[in-house]
Amino acid sequence: MIIKAREIPEIILELQALLRRLPLQYHNIQVLVDELNRRTAGHKGEEALDYPLSLLDPQKYLILHGLRLQIDNHFFQIDTLVISKNFILLIEVKNLAGTIYFDPVFSQLIQIKEEQQTVYPDPQIQLHRQKTHFEKWLRLNGFSSIPIYSLVVISNDRTLIKTSPNNHKIHSTVIHRHLLPTRITQFERNNFSENYNDKEIKKLARMLKKKHRMTEHSILERFHISPSEIRGGVICKLCNHGPLVRKHGFWFCTKCKSKDTNGHIQALMDYQLIFKKETITNGEARKYLNIESRFVVTRLLKSLSLSSTGDKKSTTYNLTKQNVPTTPNKKPATTK
Ligand SMILES: [Zn+2]
Repeated sequence: MIIKAREIPEIILELQALLRRLPLQYHNIQVLVDELNRRTAGHKGEEALDYPLSLLDPQKYLILHGLRLQIDNHFFQIDTLVISKNFILLIEVKNLAGTIYFDPVFSQLIQIKEEQQTVYPDPQIQLHRQKTHFEKWLRLNGFSSIPIYSLVVISNDRTLIKTSPNNHKIHSTVIHRHLLPTRITQFERNNFSENYNDKEIKKLARMLKKKHRMTEHSILERFHISPSEIRGGVICKLCNHGPLVRKHGFWFCTKCKSKDTNGHIQALMDYQLIFKKETITNGEARKYLNIESRFVVTRLLKSLSLSSTGDKKSTTYNLTKQNVPTTPNKKPATTK
């Protein structure tokens, strides 16, 4: 049973927003494009696990995706966690095409693709660290010990996995995704006694979900981008021109002559993602959306039924992800 579903990672949404809003001639655009491609491939790799995981008995296994947990002053992340009464499994997913070579001498992972070699740190080391952190997390949160396994799962079926002849034991920690259900059955056979009861695994899953923390980094700081470089207003979905002009209830692109009804929704989501702001006032929205009229902005914000605090001129609208609709409500909001 999936307890915490996989979501599109925030960083992917942030990078997409940045690429929409930076000038095309921005000097570092390729770094952002490469990072977005890398993150998207990682996310796709994680999605490729959905099928093998769907073969598990939902009554026996609780699954949590994309966990970020804290111990002491630092955070650690787990791609996928599988909980049962008998054991727990930590999964680190790698989506690397071509041939990958696990080099045990220097603890590196070498990807060979289209005659190019790329070196990564060995994911087994990272996974071992995560396992140690997770054991500590369980202890600190009052859970008794339970066998914990960890696997590096290669999500691309066509990836050729190689290693040196004396490192053959790697097959116990690195597998292709289609082997995942078989491996879990093996763990089941090796651990037939129950360490947790029904109530305990549910409590654990609930607590993990509750203690999951989103990252709080600023994408602008991370890539050393000044807020002044970000283009405001509604950007054209078709030709990336901006800002669009508001006319007769539509957003008009003066370059490709297209019109858009809901362009302000994406613009407000971009504002939240790039500037990490959870709220917006009428004045801020006017400046950002490039609209002079306070009344037009009030109407646009109200049409989204955003929850808000304050009164009249001091109203601030809540822009958190759960709060911004993908399409506006037909009926203007009457609640504040
Ligand atoms: Zn356009």
